[in-house]
Amino acid sequence: MSKLTEKWTEDKIRYIIRKLDEKTGLNGLALPIKLNRAKCRIGYFRYPRTEEHAGTETFGFSLTFLNDPETPEAAAVDLIRHEYAHYYVYTTKLYRYYKTYAYLHGHGSDWIWACKLVGAVPKARYEKSDFADKNWSIKEAQDAYDGKDIPAFNILSYLEKWDQAPVDPENAARYLSSLKQHNPDAYYEAGDEVLHPKRGFGIVRDAVPFDYNIQKVYISFEDKSDGIFSTRDLCKMINGVAIPYDSRLEISNCA
Ligand SMILES: [Zn+2]
Repeated sequence: MSKLTEKWTEDKIRYIIRKLDEKTGLNGLALPIKLNRAKCRIGYFRYPRTEEHAGTETFGFSLTFLNDPETPEAAAVDLIRHEYAHYYVYTTKLYRYYKTYAYLHGHGSDWIWACKLVGAVPKARYEKSDFADKNWSIKEAQDAYDGKDIPAFNILSYLEKWDQAPVDPENAARYLSSLKQHNPDAYYEAGDEVLHPKRGFGIVRDAVPFDYNIQKVYISFEDKSDGIFSTRDLCKMINGVAIPYDSRLEISNCA
């Protein structure tokens, strides 16, 4: 039984969703929530399959499950986060960046990423054993309600800026340090000076991993314009020399 809530209500579910919204930058709070007494389908995120049903996104949760004395409190919170992760994938169209188109099927790599970002167990089906070691104290429950374990990451602004699937920060750090070590001329970080064949000289403001040995970098140019480019299309300025991504390319491409 839930120690903190004792009895689940729409308001309590909304509180959790609002705290998730604060971390993700999304607006799950705007959606209606339907409560039911389902025994098997303990939760859902419903989205319109066709244009004519646009705007009918809905969360649904089973009070039978949430208020069952056998349901660990962590599992109740996880159910809300699980459905929120479906909403996350749908509303950001995150599936565009994955080959699986998983939101149509539900639980693919895009949804697994969303689970990571909203602190949900990335499994399609509820299994009580997943929560065996999560016997929360009141304090732990309160922290989870408040989303204190959730990283702040504005997914929409990230996608708008980089137009690619987010990269796991741990993987990114490992990948970038390897690139920096093995191919320093192809490694970019904020402050580096670059030369773009058409746009001229600029300064790197931000960089993210993109693909094998390639980053995407955000550049401010001398003419005050800016833009995002693949490091494949740039030269890095090192001691006054423009070094292209692939040294087999003609340096003159950059001149
Ligand atoms: Zn699901």
